[in-house]
Amino acid sequence: HPLLMQGKRGLVMGVANDHSIAWGIAKALADQGAELAFTYQGEALGKRVKPLAAKVGSTLVLPCDVEDLASLDATFAALEKAWGRLDFAVHCIAYSDKAELKGRYADTTRENFLRTMTISAFSFTEMAKRAAALMPQGGAMVTLTFGGANRVMPNYNVMGVAKAALEASVRYLAADFGPQGIRVNAISAGPVRTLAGAGITDARFMFNFQKAHAPLRRTVTIADVGGSALYLLSDLSAGVTGEIHYVDSGYNIILMPHPESQKA
Ligand code: NAD
Repeated sequence: HPLLMQGKRGLVMGVANDHSIAWGIAKALADQGAELAFTYQGEALGKRVKPLAAKVGSTLVLPCDVEDLASLDATFAALEKAWGRLDFAVHCIAYSDKAELKGRYADTTRENFLRTMTISAFSFTEMAKRAAALMPQGGAMVTLTFGGANRVMPNYNVMGVAKAALEASVRYLAADFGPQGIRVNAISAGPVRTLAGAGITDARFMFNFQKAHAPLRRTVTIADVGGSALYLLSDLSAGVTGEIHYVDSGYNIILMPHPESQKA
């Protein structure tokens, strides 16, 4: 039986360490035979990402800071030179000033609003445009979002607004690239203990609340997210594009916690 990703080549952006959601996705893809390229933000993270990439047999490990367009262009030039084409691309990148991931959204500064939007939302569009140029035979892309895009999550603030823009981008990009056979989807993950996840004030309360009240009564793992990303990036989801797929133990369907779960 052939592996799901055998013969497919793709880019994974956003591994910081082995707790990163991007790493969970990379492992799921590599286990199914995918050939991977990685990018890392800055040399300090590069030291962590290179050995991880080696674990999944990847030798294409490139620096890329999405705030710097020249660095994004250099990444795609290197990919084109090495591979000539891409089958899939994964975007797991977000940033906001920690000082604004607490208190009121109303107090967001213009400077941090723009920076958060550029890194956490528009970088996906910039990645998608460059990746699509390397997908003449079609392909698939996935980005990572959070339920704070649609509903108010304490302290998530400007990041929720950026995720709303990111989710809308997924739909517009799916429409733009659909005629080329390129599918664009997002995974809306429940809280995961990562570097970025820990940046949100009261993260521990959020984890415990999800664990207590989500239908599955647990938080999700990076392997859970990896499995769903594998589906969205493989031919199993050939008819799916423009979707926001929840991988959150079912938390998003709940309007009010069950009184029994409150006692737990
Ligand atoms: P993480 O800290 O492991 O990954 C975040 C990544 O973003 C890091 O690799 C970091 O280097 C990268 N990044 C930030 N600014 C960048 C820049 N200017 N250029 C290039 N890369 C940059 O945390 P994570 O939780 O795995 O985050 C991955 C994605 O998943 C993010 O989009 C995040 O919002 C999303 N997400 C996380 C959770 C959670 O609870 N952890 C839940 C839902 C969605």
